[in-house]
Amino acid sequence: MEKVKGVLKRENAFREMTEADTLACEAYAKDYLGYLGIAKTERRAYDEAVRRIEALGFKELSTMATLKPGDKVYRGYHGKTLMAVVIGEKPVAEGINVIGGHTDAPRIDIKPVPVCEKGGLAYFDTHYYGGIKKFQWVTHPLALYGVVVKPDGSKVEIAIGDQPEDPVFQITDVLPHFGGEQSAKKLGEAFDPEDMDILVGSLPVAKNEDDEDIKDKVKLNILRILEKTYGITEEDLVSAELELVPAGMPRELGLDRSMIAGYGHDDRVCAYAGLRALMDLPAVPPRTGMVLLCDKEEIGSVGATGMDSTFFENSVAELIARQDPTAGDIAVRRALEASRMLSADVCAASDPHFPSADSPNNMAKMNAGGCMIKYTGARGKGGASDARAEFIADLRRIFAAKNVVWQAGELGRCEKGGGGTIALYMARYGMDVIDFGVPLFNMHAPWETATKFDCYMTYRAYKAFLED
Ligand code: MN
Ligand code: MN
Repeated sequence: MEKVKGVLKRENAFREMTEADTLACEAYAKDYLGYLGIAKTERRAYDEAVRRIEALGFKELSTMATLKPGDKVYRGYHGKTLMAVVIGEKPVAEGINVIGGHTDAPRIDIKPVPVCEKGGLAYFDTHYYGGIKKFQWVTHPLALYGVVVKPDGSKVEIAIGDQPEDPVFQITDVLPHFGGEQSAKKLGEAFDPEDMDILVGSLPVAKNEDDEDIKDKVKLNILRILEKTYGITEEDLVSAELELVPAGMPRELGLDRSMIAGYGHDDRVCAYAGLRALMDLPAVPPRTGMVLLCDKEEIGSVGATGMDSTFFENSVAELIARQDPTAGDIAVRRALEASRMLSADVCAASDPHFPSADSPNNMAKMNAGGCMIKYTGARGKGGASDARAEFIADLRRIFAAKNVVWQAGELGRCEKGGGGTIALYMARYGMDVIDFGVPLFNMHAPWETATKFDCYMTYRAYKAFLED
């Protein structure tokens, strides 16, 4: 980059890029497109991250008896939550630089007893996951991903809808000609989630197998297909995690190809940036660098794989025990308190078509770099982890030294809504935490949009932070 102008201008900073930066940004975006197309669920994001870091020599923490500076390790949890670490020059007990993001994304989940027949058609009953505008998800082609686990522990992986020859699935909608009643309703009330069933079939079982006493012949046909193709029964679906996500691969957007449209930028765009930053660290960073990619953020960070669990502190204890077996609980607490984190999550970009959601001087602009959000929350910062000025000042120093283009803002206009991230769960340990991530259009829509420049600059910011 040429000399960065500062965070207040919020101008399109693309023109300040050197030729080498432009090439690096393009290469970064290309690799991210590949990752995003694979990481369509939190389990797939986990598998892809492990595949990438193992290729770089990261070892599973449980296989390491001791840890020395430069060691690269990871610890997974239930195949969904991942902690990857590069051990620094200073002991872990002196604190860790953490990039923490999430890899779950809003979607439509399948209910435990999903298969049903209505009006001679077969459906899967669904329960949506995370904050979605329901009307955006109807009629959109959907792919089905997930696992079905049998009582003997064997696991069937399902991935239908993203290969060219695959079928897709759909939630149907009423035609506009007869949609008057629906259109008169409030947008948020027009779609009853109990009616958002997924259409999965229209054919009855073959005649020779038919029995006139069987009521739901189309449902039966679907069950037979599940049994024949995947070896699973209707009861097996009780122990399944099946997710419907938008079908299709992420794409470049715009005649200038400067943007990326795809499913799940929130928050795989920051998860990927953090992972890449960690993978690109020098052999031995001054402080231990960690990337934490967790699950369940979109439903409040609850559950064993969410950030509200003890996974993070347990993992830090595991690291410290391998550096100093005599260190007790107090060493873990001190390390947590001395750590600092960029809560790596997306934010809303100012959209010229929706000024009523805007806080004009305090909202991220597209192509102005990664955005630092001092506090989230709603109604007078309720639920926010409001970062302290001293930490922000130190980040200004770090970013300026590495010519990182970034901006400062908040989530949106006061009283218009709000939101949260994993920041407050980490702040509980007494560490410094602040949100920093990629500005998006259409957050939580089937296809979200980010600019390549902002994706790349967020990576640069994370890398500068981990190197400090
Ligand atoms: Mn998020
Ligand atoms: Mn979100």
